[in-house]
Amino acid sequence: MKRAESIILLLAVFTLLFTANSCTEKDPAWLAYHKSTARQDAGGGGIIIVDEDDEQNPDPGSPGEEPGPDDPVQPDPQEPDEPQEPEWPVDNHWFQTRGIILTWEDVVTLDWIALAKTCGINTFSVNGFPSIGGKTWKDYVAKCTQNGIRICYEDHMGSQLIPRSLFKTHPEYFRMNENGVRVDDVNFCVTNPEVQQRVYDNAVELGKAYAPTNHRYYFWGDDFGKKCHCPNCKQYTDVEQWLIVENIVIDALRSFDDKAMLAHLLYDNTMQYPSTKVSPKEGIFLQFAPINRRWDYSIANASARKGNYQTHGYMTDCLKEHLKIFPAETAEVLEYWLDVTMSSGWKKPVKKIAQWYPSVYQQDIAYYASLGIRNIVTYGMWIGGEYLNSFGDIQFVKDYGNGLLNYTK
Ligand SMILES: [Zn+2]
Repeated sequence: MKRAESIILLLAVFTLLFTANSCTEKDPAWLAYHKSTARQDAGGGGIIIVDEDDEQNPDPGSPGEEPGPDDPVQPDPQEPDEPQEPEWPVDNHWFQTRGIILTWEDVVTLDWIALAKTCGINTFSVNGFPSIGGKTWKDYVAKCTQNGIRICYEDHMGSQLIPRSLFKTHPEYFRMNENGVRVDDVNFCVTNPEVQQRVYDNAVELGKAYAPTNHRYYFWGDDFGKKCHCPNCKQYTDVEQWLIVENIVIDALRSFDDKAMLAHLLYDNTMQYPSTKVSPKEGIFLQFAPINRRWDYSIANASARKGNYQTHGYMTDCLKEHLKIFPAETAEVLEYWLDVTMSSGWKKPVKKIAQWYPSVYQQDIAYYASLGIRNIVTYGMWIGGEYLNSFGDIQFVKDYGNGLLNYTK
């Protein structure tokens, strides 16, 4: 055997041992995954979505069109600057994260930075940027940082991690439905080794592109997503399947950001009891988003329920069971108190906020605080110029921020 071949063999054996060592008995899916960086683009040239089999015949696509909601986020081609670690002022309030999710249209039609400063909101997630990671993004992040506001990016990312366009050449990458048919509707086959490698590579590119200033990353599964029922995946629940993905993504993020934290979302079909088969890796934090609750009753009211959805008691039991595994101090609640998209049925024109019940809100945050939770974010999308012009009153935003700011246990 030649010397070079011996070295390659030794490296392969080492890689196998390393991978096996990093597995737990609970995580058989991990045996398929290795942390190769072979497909990373050293030039930082964007997210890897080109299929190797397709490189000779690239998809003509539609270069003149605006990207749709399912298209992968494309960062600007320019090389990102080395991120500077902001120096945040000392904050001794109980709720450390007092956040809101907005749209780009909201922040350009309403001075959200000035508004946030009046009521202690200190974290924005802004959806629908013209380009994530580009000059507009960096300029806005810098402006927020100067004003003491952290920026992160909370969104559904299943179709960014494994773009739907790969279905043509690799249907095996995608989820199998209950009838044994591969479908490209949502999410993907989480135990497929090639899928796991692409998830890792694309998470590196995406994470670098939008680098949050609070080190908190969000790679949620596709909205109202379903799980893969293939022979290898079907043993895992919805929440377990996405935890397999998150364990890969946190590795990818920590390859360039050693403080990276990644959300594990309890929401809709992943509002389940904790996994018995998959353990979260260090750096994964719990996120609780009770979209199917009622807002005219506190989340602490165990028997309250909306229609045939789960009761508040079931949701909070899921939360409490997860808090036996995930630290409460890093856990985040993502609420809908100020979600005008929800109030509007997710269709324009905007309608008046419908989930804002001030006394229920106070009961809710006291309940979350009683569980040790110190990070609260609400959707606030479509609170922008159009909302202000239509209804003239956004006092509820200040009441939300001040409620968190002034809360004491
Ligand atoms: Zn599968």
